Amino acid sequence: MTETQAEPLLKVRDLGVRIMDARGSVAAVNGVDLDLAAGDSLGIVGESGAGKSQLALALMGLSAPGARLSGSIRFDGQELVGMRALQRRRLNGPQMAMVFQDPMRALNPFLRIGTQLTEGMRYHGIARGSAAQAEARRLLDRVRIAQPARRLQQYPHELSGGMRQRVVLAMALACRPRLLIADEATTALDVTVQASILALLNDIRAEQNLALIMVSHDLGVIAQSCRTTAVLYAGRIVESAPTEALLMHPQHPYAQGLLRARPQLEGPRGEALPAIPGTPPDPRALPAGCAFAPRCPRADAICSERPLPTAVANAHVACHHPG
Ligand code: SF4
Repeated sequence: MTETQAEPLLKVRDLGVRIMDARGSVAAVNGVDLDLAAGDSLGIVGESGAGKSQLALALMGLSAPGARLSGSIRFDGQELVGMRALQRRRLNGPQMAMVFQDPMRALNPFLRIGTQLTEGMRYHGIARGSAAQAEARRLLDRVRIAQPARRLQQYPHELSGGMRQRVVLAMALACRPRLLIADEATTALDVTVQASILALLNDIRAEQNLALIMVSHDLGVIAQSCRTTAVLYAGRIVESAPTEALLMHPQHPYAQGLLRARPQLEGPRGEALPAIPGTPPDPRALPAGCAFAPRCPRADAICSERPLPTAVANAHVACHHPG
């Protein structure tokens, strides 16, 4: 399917992910809908345990063995839910790629950077030998690593944390994917390195018409890199909107709480940030109605019915009392 046709590059409908373990099943993702066009950017934000990483892994076909997916993930017109494993694996690299929070999870400590950077190109038949080495040097240069020829000979432990994350980004870009998913990709870095990697990601996205999904607990990271944002709570999208609108006028009480809990440079000094009271619900026993009700100052009787997303201003909000 080409980009001129109506269907977006990524179209997710009613996606569910259930993780099976010894105690039964956990509903990690519950009925998520997403659309993302080629070259566009989407942030997914929420607290730990909201289901962000499980959603990202499901999109990549990397859910844990035993996880059960339901609903639909269409990528470039192909249905990914239920696709045969070998066919699915071939998409990872040339079509979609992921950058994780911990670069050591993606890097093998026993292999040189050059070997790891060229592995995907060799596996997918994109380049081999000296052509792959030349492309690896170009990629390291593109992610602004100095002395790329020298770095290709080094092992991961010889690089700084920021450099390792740039190498992981170069690996993800090596097969020229059309969709990049970055899961807390800058969380472990200090703020200056984080800012330079976000700027780099934005440049590369524009240059390669790359679709980007940025998963983060940090609204500041999303604000710097994503045109639209979806707020996830208990595995459901509770608000989705253009990022600027969400930051200026959040509609859902949970989104409002996340914004209030952000540190502000100009805010009063020495005062604790207003935290959202309570804790996220147990995913083994989600309430039938609104999962945020036990923590919500606006909860009333109608909230025992599950709120469905409805258009409010230029957002979609799953709340009986938005605004
Ligand atoms: S539906 Fe009710 S409980 Fe849920 S967020 Fe909205 S007002 Fe609060």
